[in-house]
This record gives sequence, structure tokens and C-alpha cells, in this order.
Amino acid sequence: MYDMLCPGCGHRTAMMLIDDIIKQKNIKEKTMLALDVACCSLLIDFVAYDSVMCAHGRVLDVTKGYKTMRKDNVVISYMGDGAAYSIGMEEMVHAARRNDDALVIVINNGLYSMTGGQITPTYIDTQNSNEYKGFLIENLLNGFEISYLARAALTDKENIDNAKKCLDKAFTKYMTTGGFNLVELLSPCPTNYRVTAQKAAEMINDSISKIYKIKEFVS
Ligand code: SF4
Repeated sequence: MYDMLCPGCGHRTAMMLIDDIIKQKNIKEKTMLALDVACCSLLIDFVAYDSVMCAHGRVLDVTKGYKTMRKDNVVISYMGDGAAYSIGMEEMVHAARRNDDALVIVINNGLYSMTGGQITPTYIDTQNSNEYKGFLIENLLNGFEISYLARAALTDKENIDNAKKCLDKAFTKYMTTGGFNLVELLSPCPTNYRVTAQKAAEMINDSISKIYKIKEFVS
């Protein structure tokens, strides 16, 4: 399943959770997955529902157009943290400000992974915290009238079960009351962390999640 991804990659876990929810809600026929480029793009050959690959950082523009024309469809905006919080930040802020009907899933591994691990705004360096403080989406969207905002981690059973609950809630709210729904998933990238899959998950549990709180911020 999702064999193009590296062993231990969080994208695989995220997509398996999303696939489960689509199956449980029986919405495969009306789902469209919009993917950003880079490691996200590796998923496109594996999904069993409609999908489209977008220019870097432009997923929310594509999905707004799609959702405007096909109001009954479930349109997933799937991207990495570099696309969401740097290259596509303008789209993100204004989609949230308008409380657009959007189902946004952000894979946060702190890096542009496919191109070798250049840092994104979410990167933190515990050895050099003055320079690299990270970026917290909950601070930016604080006060926005959005539908749902949560962060979860794809590291161990307890965290993955919680991630599934957050994703399921975001899907449900998006499909019933609409509005802007975002789930950020702290995601291991063992290849660019240059550690084993287990160590990458431990890094998230032991240090990264201390700054990036696992929490529902808007529910
Ligand atoms: S480079 Fe990182 S994010 Fe990309 S597929 Fe490998 S583990 Fe996943």
C-alpha cells in the first residue's frame, strides 16, 4: 500500500486513515483528492477515487473552484507544511478568513522532503531555538471564524487513533455544516531526519510535539 513512499513515512499512515474514513462514510464515488507536489504527488497512483495534482501551494485555489462547481462532492485539500504555510500561505489565510468550505490536511514534517530536506517554516531546532522557532497555525488562525482546527501525530497507536478521530470529525463537519476545517498531522520523515522509523516517531513524541501541541483548537 502506497509503496512509493519510504519506510516509516507519515504520508502512508495519513492516507490509510483517510481511505478508512472514505470507506466507512461510503463516499468514494463523490470524493476528489487534490494533492500538492513533492512527496504528496507519490500518492496519486494509489488512490481509488478521483484525484488531481496541483501546482505547488495552489491546492486551495483548485479545490475552491472544484467545490464551487460541485457542491455535493467531498473535496480533500492535501498538502505538506511547506505548501500550506509558505508557498501557499496566501491561499490558506484567505480561505480561512472567508471560512470557505474546505477540508484541509497538512502533513507537518518540518521539511521540503522530496528535494532533500530543506527547512520549512515549521522546522524547529532544539539546539538553536532562537533562530528556528517554528510556526504555529493555531496562533495565526486565532480569532478566525473557522469550523475545525486540530493537530494530531502519526507516531504510535494512541496518537494514530486520535488522528483518525480528528480526521473523522473534520470530514463530518465539512460534510454537514461546511466551513474551513484543517487537521495538521505531525508526520515522521525518517529519510530526511536520517534516523530509523522508530527514532523519527520518538523525535515527534519526545520533542516536536512539546512545541506543536496535540490538541483540538477549534471544535
Ligand atoms: S522523503 Fe520523507 S516525506 Fe518523502 S516519502 Fe520519504 S519519508 Fe515520506
